[in-house]
Amino acid sequence: MEERIQADAVLVGAGIMGATLAALLQQLEPGLSVLILERLERVAAESSAAINNAGTGHGANCELNYTPRDGHGHLNLHKALAINGAYEQSLQFWAALVEQGALPNPGVFLHQVPHYSLVWGKEDGDFLAQRQQHMAALPQFDGMAFSQDHVVLKDWFPLVMEGRAPGEVMAATRYGRGTDVDFGALTESLLGWLQKQPGVELRLNHQLRDLHHGNGLWHLEVSHHRRRIQVDSPFVFLGAGGSTLLLLQRSGLGEAKGYGGFPVSGQWLICQTESLITQHWAKVYGKAPVGAPPMSMPHLDSRWIDGRRSLLFGPYAGFSSKFMKQGSLLDLPASIRPHNLLAMVGVGLRESHLVAYLLQQLRQSPEDRLARLRHFLPQARPEDWHLAIAGQRVQIIKHEPGRGPQLKLGTEVVAAADGSLAALLGASPGASTAVTIMVELLQRCFPKLFQEGRWPQRLAQLLPYDPSTGDSTTLGRCRQRCDAILGLREV
Ligand SMILES: Cc1cc2nc3c(=O)[nH]c(=O)nc-3n(C[C@H](O)[C@H](O)[C@H](O)COP(=O)(O)OP(=O)(O)OC[C@H]3O[C@@H](n4cnc5c(N)ncnc54)[C@H](O)[C@@H]3O)c2cc1C
Repeated sequence: MEERIQADAVLVGAGIMGATLAALLQQLEPGLSVLILERLERVAAESSAAINNAGTGHGANCELNYTPRDGHGHLNLHKALAINGAYEQSLQFWAALVEQGALPNPGVFLHQVPHYSLVWGKEDGDFLAQRQQHMAALPQFDGMAFSQDHVVLKDWFPLVMEGRAPGEVMAATRYGRGTDVDFGALTESLLGWLQKQPGVELRLNHQLRDLHHGNGLWHLEVSHHRRRIQVDSPFVFLGAGGSTLLLLQRSGLGEAKGYGGFPVSGQWLICQTESLITQHWAKVYGKAPVGAPPMSMPHLDSRWIDGRRSLLFGPYAGFSSKFMKQGSLLDLPASIRPHNLLAMVGVGLRESHLVAYLLQQLRQSPEDRLARLRHFLPQARPEDWHLAIAGQRVQIIKHEPGRGPQLKLGTEVVAAADGSLAALLGASPGASTAVTIMVELLQRCFPKLFQEGRWPQRLAQLLPYDPSTGDSTTLGRCRQRCDAILGLREV
């Protein structure tokens, strides 16, 4: 007999986004019946797995693409401040859960590591100096330091400076309160705790196949091995990573019309040579090559994966028509519909530099990859580094009124007008901003509960610093508390 299940909320996908939304719902409305469906046999096995992303806690202190200059040479800090505020909210939420005993010792998923931006040449050095002057004056980036002096740079990242000519023009900024996050371990911890809470159920090997809306409920067709299961719920979150677009299209939601997706895959070089790992305690971000998408900024990182430290360099971009690492080659063609065809073709024509960049990346030989690594590490030896496949990012394509077809590199929540379904598209800045994205999603889908005041009150306890206020006193107080709980310190 076919199984039929009912739940107050169904969350599709057990990655960091689904886990974060489930944790927020549990904190706001304990006892709510929440069903989490995951197609794989493990949680966090797609983009949220540590090996599939760079694990940078994006606080916007080292990523140069968040601080562009306008046509007049003025620095635009808007995006950096938004992302910094969002990451601060993630830290606050994790701290609140650690304090409750819901999350374990933060060392399981969070490590402090200074964040650096590094550039070459006079022009980029001047830009970096201007950027540091503006940013260090703000409480959000207080303590950011700048140097062009090789002696200082050698102290900051000795491996990067080994074998450099003394006259090489370089400049860097340093921000001590940077982090590396194992989002896979965090997701596992969150879901491990959630499964012990009344009302929360996680079902692995359960794949959402189809869904439609009728009589005030979403009706989900789910497969579990060869069995079919019907799930009914008034609220559905599609947090299926790259596959979200395909599921959203199946939902028939009017708001989903016009959206398409373009997958970009990533690769890393990984080093497990102990003597090198111990000499580099840093995330060093450079500038994206001309014509490359911003997420291809090269960086050399200290990484902690399942508690083990390594070095990671990349990303090298690639192309696969799959929307997930464990997806199907038919994902991209299956996502092309009459309503998004024009936008897809328009972006293909307009973003020819991206296509050229991807083709160039695909043609790279191991020697080409080594040459790029040696720009950062002049003394790198091929035998210390091996290639690993990272996750898939599906970039959003859509037609925007007045702007035409656009390739969007951020994330976007698509929600039904009645709030009964929400879906998360895109992947950047991603996991670091999960808490802010999920709070905004809840505000859009449950406006009445926010108007009633109970949810905002509880949220204010969990996330006392509201970045939109820019209130430096509260920020300072919250940071102190967070840092004490999460084991971060001034370095
Ligand atoms: C190369 C790369 C580098 C990145 N670097 C960073 C970084 O440094 N910092 C950062 O903050 N973010 C980074 N990100 C982004 C970050 O990894 C993602 O934003 C985040 O992991 C997305 O989480 P998610 O839960 O939405 O998706 P996922 O982790 O992909 O989870 C989606 C889940 O849905 C499941 N699923 C799919 N279809 C179905 C279905 N039909 N039924 C049931 N379940 C389904 C999947 O199996 C999967 O478990 C990076 C991403 C990539 C690809």
